[in-house]
Amino acid sequence: MPSSIHHRAMTRAAVAGANAANAQMLAEDYCLYPDNFHRNYDEISPYMYLHNKVEFHYLPHTPVDEFYRYWDHIPGEGTRLLQVGDNKNLEYTESGFRFYLENSIACLKKGKDDEAWKFMGCLLHFLEDSAFGVHAMEGVDGTDIYVLDRMSGKDVAKYLCSIPLSEALNEEQFIPEIFAGTIEEAVPLLYCRCARAAASSRKALFDMALEFLTGKSARSTAENEKIMFRNAAQLACDTLATVIAIAKGETLAQKERQLADFEPFFYPIGGGGSFQLRKYALSGNTITFGVNLEAKLLYHLPEKFYSKFTVKVSGNEISGVIIEVVNHGEIERTITVRDDEEITLEIPFPGGVFGFVTRPESGRGELILSGGTFTS
Ligand SMILES: [Zn+2]
Repeated sequence: MPSSIHHRAMTRAAVAGANAANAQMLAEDYCLYPDNFHRNYDEISPYMYLHNKVEFHYLPHTPVDEFYRYWDHIPGEGTRLLQVGDNKNLEYTESGFRFYLENSIACLKKGKDDEAWKFMGCLLHFLEDSAFGVHAMEGVDGTDIYVLDRMSGKDVAKYLCSIPLSEALNEEQFIPEIFAGTIEEAVPLLYCRCARAAASSRKALFDMALEFLTGKSARSTAENEKIMFRNAAQLACDTLATVIAIAKGETLAQKERQLADFEPFFYPIGGGGSFQLRKYALSGNTITFGVNLEAKLLYHLPEKFYSKFTVKVSGNEISGVIIEVVNHGEIERTITVRDDEEITLEIPFPGGVFGFVTRPESGRGELILSGGTFTS
């Protein structure tokens, strides 16, 4: 799961919603390219992106264990989070998205629509796999598809792969949201959308697994399948519509982006206080997390794109928190937030590896970042 029938149905819905012209083959054949890659190697390989020899099909996991598990004690300086490796998930996804967006948009601009749809077939398949069915277990914040089998001793993955497409899903219609006007911005914004769609589908998938294992679940199998179908087809539809709009040179009026429009590649988890053993909370455009020994909230932004970032920083039951502001991969500024004061931070020309590293002077509590806004 998803099977060819699922992929064709989701891509058909995306093509219809995005109003893609002459794209019947995209929904009929090209959206199956990653699954047929080895069988039809010569035909498909010009369109299949490989990242360090790994085909662009299933996302690597985010190394969440590195966000809370490994520490380095430096005498005189304190305890710091130890980053053991790079986030392969981010590197893999960003380079794959860039490859497909650049190639499909270049083909559309030259009037080679059928070539463009072949590249888009690979990308839409990837997005559909990420957000529909058992592969939603993987990717950003994910794990492998067999973890529930190991925990239960039952064939959960096999069950989750065997659910047929409900006929009613063929009638679903989608209105696209064009989410970027340039490839530079589309890459990180698509990363975020893909992560959120997979996170939502993962919960539906777990509910289906509970039904299989215990006979009890929050929703019916049909409802869970509809949630995943909508997540995946909407993601495909939005991406296709955005690619078509960028190729046509349709620029967006929107000049601002919220911090919540982006997905961090490194985030606080397992902090103290009420956030002990919890991930950071995202509510609207407000991010709250526990003040731990050290916490990092880092994003990968387009370079030379925004002229300013502003955010309000405040604490809840903190005594003093040191915040290192990271911009273009360097610590640009260090500030301290105390007690119940609220600071408005203004960071000019945010880009590249961007975000915050926080450490308490003493005590615990929560740190709140609200209204984070990037201005072009
Ligand atoms: Zn696949």
